[in-house]
Amino acid sequence: MDADNQSKSARLFERAAKVMPGGNSRHTVYFPPYPLYAARAAGAEVWDADGVVRRDFINNYSSLIHGHNHPRIVEAIRAQADRLISIAMPTEAEVELAEIVCERVPGVEQIRFTNSGTEGVMMVIKAARAFTGRTKIAKVEGAYHGSDDTASVSLTADRSVWGDPDAPASVPAPGGTPNIARDVVVLPMNDVENGRKILRAHAAELAAAMLDPLPSHLGYEAATPEFVAMLREETHRAGALLIFDEVYSFRLGFNGAQGALGAAPDLTALGKVIGGGLPVGAVGGRADIMESVFDARSGWPRVIHGGTFNANPMTMTAGAVAMKLYDREAFDRLSALGDRLRAGLREAVKIAGVPGVVGGASSMTSLTHIDRPTPTHRDRVAAIYENPDAAVRGERFFHEMLNRGFIIGSAGLFVLSTALAERDIDDVVDASLQALRVI
Ligand code: PMP
Repeated sequence: MDADNQSKSARLFERAAKVMPGGNSRHTVYFPPYPLYAARAAGAEVWDADGVVRRDFINNYSSLIHGHNHPRIVEAIRAQADRLISIAMPTEAEVELAEIVCERVPGVEQIRFTNSGTEGVMMVIKAARAFTGRTKIAKVEGAYHGSDDTASVSLTADRSVWGDPDAPASVPAPGGTPNIARDVVVLPMNDVENGRKILRAHAAELAAAMLDPLPSHLGYEAATPEFVAMLREETHRAGALLIFDEVYSFRLGFNGAQGALGAAPDLTALGKVIGGGLPVGAVGGRADIMESVFDARSGWPRVIHGGTFNANPMTMTAGAVAMKLYDREAFDRLSALGDRLRAGLREAVKIAGVPGVVGGASSMTSLTHIDRPTPTHRDRVAAIYENPDAAVRGERFFHEMLNRGFIIGSAGLFVLSTALAERDIDDVVDASLQALRVI
């Protein structure tokens, strides 16, 4: 992006930096020298504060499955706002969205709503600990699960603290504590043999193993069926639970990632898409677990779960409409667009003769400016963060795409919406080829 200190975005950022550290409330939307400020959007298009229009290929990191301001969703939100915005009572809208999600996701027999994926993950972890009476949670090294202390262990790029590659150290995120890290067991991604060994070593204390089947921080490198099967076997064997974090990877299949993988997690964290563009998260799972942990009809529940905005009617209404519109036909169409995008990007990389790895599945795609796939966090850190060329090329690509009228995720992520058509995919592929030639 060409910097212009007189632009509205530049001036807004100057104001922002005086009242917010780093000028924002969300690190993922900042980029130097200043982020573009959004003014309005419709369908696949976004106008920035200076009136420049671009097509949206990140869709609020997945939550906008139908793009911006889908007329049916807007109409439902408007009507709901006229009726009731928020209230200390349950509403029919909550029941309806719960029914829709429970019918759609095989492992979700019962559900409770939260306001973000982070909270959904936090509650899924608490539920697993309360149900099993154990403390340890296993997670994949480098996999992002939101800001919960337990979930954000072992994301660091600092190799001096990683420990043994076959048995990674549990490293608290800044702001976390060593005590929290002690309750987290860290697994190398897709390493069946070492994963099994690690889980067996902690079996007696293991509450759950948590997996995002398509972790965005690993360039959408999918969990292999063998790795998923190992997690299922070992959690069973240990008397522990298997958790899927489908906050993002729900998009992997019409029936969620678990539907696509034929997996049977005990608990599932959800978010993003199911809120129709409004803030949402959820904890769901087997009815016996959910009831045993959260049912308060006969006294104090094992886990208290309040929340001023849990299941607020605005989100529930938007979510129900969005989920109904995201039917099998819409899912199949989006997946075909994703296939077209991945094929086009691979071809563009080849024509440009530059390093580039294209990953992802269904409506989620990544392009990383490296010459070989990076199946684990450690591979990825070595290939990208410790390789100035790849890091700089990634940053330049992002800015070149902005200049050509496309918004993607700054780490090279493309997340599609039903507002996009084949022409948009071909256009973003053309722009990517041009960008790859100049970065
Ligand atoms: N889990 C995963 C896998 C995620 O990708 C994210 C967010 N991108 C979260 C949890 C946290 O969700 P939220 O941003 O809604 O708190």
